[in-house]
Amino acid sequence: MPTHVVVLGAGFGGLELSTRLSDALGDDVRVTLIDQSDAFTFGFSKLDVLFGRAGLASVRYPYRDVAAPAVTFRQERIVRIDPERRRVDTDQGTYDADILVVALGADLDPGATPGFAAGGHEFYSPEGAEATAAALDRFDGGDVVISVLGPLFKCPPAPNETAFLLHDYLVRRGIRDRCTIHLLSPLPIPIPISQDTSAAIVDLLAERGVTYRGQSMVSRLDPAERVAHLADGSTQAYDLFLGIPVHRAPPVVVESGLTEDGWVPVDPATFATRFPDVYAVGDVTSAPVPRAGVIAEGEAATAADVIIARLTDGPMPPPYQGAAVCFIEMGDRTVGRVDVNFLAGVAPTASFTPPSVEQAEEKRQFGATRRERWFGYPGGEPPAGS
Ligand SMILES: Cc1cc2nc3c(=O)[nH]c(=O)nc-3n(C[C@H](O)[C@H](O)[C@H](O)COP(=O)(O)OP(=O)(O)OC[C@H]3O[C@@H](n4cnc5c(N)ncnc54)[C@H](O)[C@@H]3O)c2cc1C
Repeated sequence: MPTHVVVLGAGFGGLELSTRLSDALGDDVRVTLIDQSDAFTFGFSKLDVLFGRAGLASVRYPYRDVAAPAVTFRQERIVRIDPERRRVDTDQGTYDADILVVALGADLDPGATPGFAAGGHEFYSPEGAEATAAALDRFDGGDVVISVLGPLFKCPPAPNETAFLLHDYLVRRGIRDRCTIHLLSPLPIPIPISQDTSAAIVDLLAERGVTYRGQSMVSRLDPAERVAHLADGSTQAYDLFLGIPVHRAPPVVVESGLTEDGWVPVDPATFATRFPDVYAVGDVTSAPVPRAGVIAEGEAATAADVIIARLTDGPMPPPYQGAAVCFIEMGDRTVGRVDVNFLAGVAPTASFTPPSVEQAEEKRQFGATRRERWFGYPGGEPPAGS
């Protein structure tokens, strides 16, 4: 009998883990991959949608195209997880797993910031990016605030990328001189792991007239007055408020008893949870690494290798190193690059490569290789009509 692995969530983590198990174990494994959505969207594609560089439909990759032969995809909403029995209930059925993997990411909670739902715009979900793109199109000038509303958020470079791309967008529309751009972040510097990257970002933002306010947290909006109130008692006026909502583990994960302090604790070497044969990877965990697709993918690769070693009585893989390449949009169609390593040494390391158009092509290739690997698209390009 093949081992039944049930993977909850088909994002970066779930797709990589399922693909790797299928590649390595073939007929010895049966993977059920469950997600409420019918298609995958890269995080970074939301910025393309936000600034009119792509339509939402063109950056959605349908899960019916998932290529790995051992994987069966189910579009269902998970409503209950019993980690002791490794049993999962969805809106359509029940699954019993030999091995259960939770890769459900982080949910957005716009309601956690009073006034934000009424007075601001989120762009971190595909639908939010599309709706905010329409609001941007209607915007005719004034003060724009980009603000991170919680302490933990996906992709630390993303708010900075938003500022660079917003500047380009407003220039393209011929209204940049009628606008101010303010970037407010709880982080003291844009990329705390890398002074070089942060200095380059702050310099390039300043060249474009964008103000960066670090260690700043908006606690509520007053939509009538169009004023953001910060936790330190100061205020910031806005005409357009682009916010990154508070992040939380999905409620179904919290209700399962898997979380502590809001996130799922794991052994960062193997991604095992405290429940036997239950693993967790990606944004839903409290592993000591940032929330990012490249990190979720690396964690998933390690967790898959641990599962493969156990099922084949093979050698255990080395612990997860926390190494990843992060691409950062830095305006004028250029992309910078940071090679990070969070867990290999005594302290995290990072090396920065300044922005270039060549690295923009590297980033494109990064997406293409994942589309080819997970969805089987030749050269990473979906066939017409997919
Ligand atoms: C604007 C933006 C830009 C970004 N840029 C980058 C970048 O350049 N590089 C990078 O590495 N990362 C980037 N990220 C971050 C990256 O997208 C996430 O960190 C990554 O997707 C996390 O992967 P994951 O597998 O943990 O979770 P996710 O990819 O979020 O997947 C979780 C899945 O679980 C599903 N799910 C949740 N609850 C349920 C339920 N109850 N039932 C069924 N399904 C459920 C969701 O539908 C989702 O598909 C960016 C993110 C954003 C928003």
